[in-house]
Amino acid sequence: MSGKQPASSVLPAPGISQAQSSLQPRFFDSATFSLSAIPDDSSTWNDNSKLITEEPPVKNPQVESTDAASGHDLTPPHGLDEIIATFGNIYEYIGTGGQLAPRWQSDFLAKTSLPFPLRLAWDPSRVITQMTCHRLMTGIYASVFACIQKNGLESKVVSFGGCFAFRPQRTGSKLSAHSWGIAIDLNPQTDAQGSAGNMDAGLVEIFRCAGFAWGGDWEGKIRDPMHFQFCTAY
Ligand SMILES: [Zn+2]
Repeated sequence: MSGKQPASSVLPAPGISQAQSSLQPRFFDSATFSLSAIPDDSSTWNDNSKLITEEPPVKNPQVESTDAASGHDLTPPHGLDEIIATFGNIYEYIGTGGQLAPRWQSDFLAKTSLPFPLRLAWDPSRVITQMTCHRLMTGIYASVFACIQKNGLESKVVSFGGCFAFRPQRTGSKLSAHSWGIAIDLNPQTDAQGSAGNMDAGLVEIFRCAGFAWGGDWEGKIRDPMHFQFCTAY
């Protein structure tokens, strides 16, 4: 991908800063997590995250309008300190045994309604119409999926791989962005970590316009095309 694609008709929504609409991913540290066994929509596929490219946003003519996705004023935090300042200090909720206190969910997480049902990647017989995420993100996720629907891209969302999941690193203190409910995995069957994947470019653009970094921009084994996260430098 490069920044040389012809400009599309996609423009930032009123009130959205140019910096946000042209959000660029930055360097990410690697992290290894074990998958916690949380049922229903709180589970996600295991992934590592490392962003090492500085790709500009791709403008995709397939997407006619991203207004529905970009119409918010929450700036994606840059780095752990900003993530904590924006979305809460999860470390204060982790016990000595490494367990996350239930009040993390009651204090910071909420369910958001989805405009169309998502099929669970780990149980394709089930679909969800609500998803657990950070409470500051409920409107953003809802707008992203509304924008996907508006652009006729529902069929490109084959499955939901998870949003909130507490995923401690085996060593060290770094947690996945999923721990804050600010990351989401889509289509994990065809967008496995380390693979090229086949994530739809229109979906990628819609998430970008809403402020998300895309794991498909990361390189090598840590490339993670299923993964979108609302933060940078982490
Ligand atoms: Zn992920």
